[in-house]
Amino acid sequence: MTPDRSTKKIAVIGLGYVGLVIAACFAAAGRRVVGVDTNLAYLEALRAGHAPFHEPGLDEILAEQRASGRLTYTADASEGVRGAKFVFLAVGTPKNSGGQADLSQIEAALRQFVLLLEHGVSVVIKSTVPVRTATRVREFIEEARGPDFEFSVVSNPEFLQQGRAVESFLKPDRIVIGGDCQDAVERVAVLYAGFDAPVLLTDHETAAMIKYASNAFLATKVSFANEMAKLCDAVGVDFLTVARGVGMDHRISPFFMSPGPGFGGSCLPKDVAALVALGADSGVEMIMLKEVLRVNHRQPRYVYNKLRDRIGEVKGRKITLLGLSFKADTDDVRDSPALDLARILISQGAIVHAYDPLAEPKSIYLLPSVLHHPDPYAACSGADAAIICTEWPEFRKMDLERLGALMSTPVLIDARNILDPESAARHGIRYTGVGRGSDPAA
Ligand code: NAD
Repeated sequence: MTPDRSTKKIAVIGLGYVGLVIAACFAAAGRRVVGVDTNLAYLEALRAGHAPFHEPGLDEILAEQRASGRLTYTADASEGVRGAKFVFLAVGTPKNSGGQADLSQIEAALRQFVLLLEHGVSVVIKSTVPVRTATRVREFIEEARGPDFEFSVVSNPEFLQQGRAVESFLKPDRIVIGGDCQDAVERVAVLYAGFDAPVLLTDHETAAMIKYASNAFLATKVSFANEMAKLCDAVGVDFLTVARGVGMDHRISPFFMSPGPGFGGSCLPKDVAALVALGADSGVEMIMLKEVLRVNHRQPRYVYNKLRDRIGEVKGRKITLLGLSFKADTDDVRDSPALDLARILISQGAIVHAYDPLAEPKSIYLLPSVLHHPDPYAACSGADAAIICTEWPEFRKMDLERLGALMSTPVLIDARNILDPESAARHGIRYTGVGRGSDPAA
């Protein structure tokens, strides 16, 4: 593939965690990009010079690309799509009440711009969508524009990881491009010509399934680690060492083997649920994936039970959550296990306090009764116990002696296993991890 730095315009519809990163990175690769979003608060933040959410390194690229004139934003789909040779669909595909992917944002976006698409355009599906969605998109456009309208639909699922989205978009493990028109697939492949990654060209259905299967496998690994960690707790074995030994087998790898409060975020839970639902709709019971979700659903309760074992009843007691986002380096709290834990604690009558370096604004409306603090020490002051829910680097560096002295009872449940149990015990903390076999005496 030869790099194509032509000024062919790219429109990106949806400037969320995925769309904004790809818009910024394609602009940085020398392309002319217009980002479209219906969220006016997002556009306001972008025009003020920063991303509407936290993603390391993104603000810098946005500033450079705004200054270069290659990246512009609009709420007006007609302005965005007019003259575009590629229209990337990066809107949300959340879970509906039946567990399926809700495609209403895709449908609404298509309705907004279908009559404005240029001849020869490629509509590229970036959002995670079930098999056969590309066919539905093609039929929708054909119906709206008639048989003489020339266009193509290409499936190009995204694998970036929040918290390191820019890096993982620019240096992906693979680029998957699916479609039924070889030319169109290759035109999209050329957009990635400068990227150092293997490219897998395939059909629409396979591309969509690769995305779902990847997330299902990662989720399975996490639930496996959590189940093994529970067993290790019961029989007095340190699962962290077990995971290290198991992960040394290159067929397994050490990644996604960390036990904790369960997986969350906007992808793994909904994508596994969508596969289970697709199985049900297709007459295939996804037995293992159902269990993966079940194990995950129970995990916050497992952490809560550890707390109960340490302090007994939580009613009327101050419990502090350290971290609310579903993982470190993001402010995203969608399906965050920390919020599930907060809900369990609130339902049991606990007074829940919290500190998160970034996620307070996004969690405050979801859980208005949680009391937020500006740092971990203020949050833990007078607490009966604290639970580390997110692996924020700053929690690794906490002054444990100070923390323990401030708490009413120095009980710390480290649901992310980021602290050294012995060192915590030496500082007077009554420490409990997940899957560490036994807790140090304290
Ligand atoms: P998001 O909810 O953060 O962003 C979606 C954006 O689309 C929002 O800003 C919303 O305002 C906008 N939007 C909705 N309808 C629109 C319309 N008609 N016109 C213009 N804008 C519209 O979602 P996300 O996390 O960026 O995910 C997007 C897709 O990418 C999903 O399918 C998701 O599964 C997939 N994905 C996400 C990640 C991730 O880490 N977040 C990784 C890989 C794939």
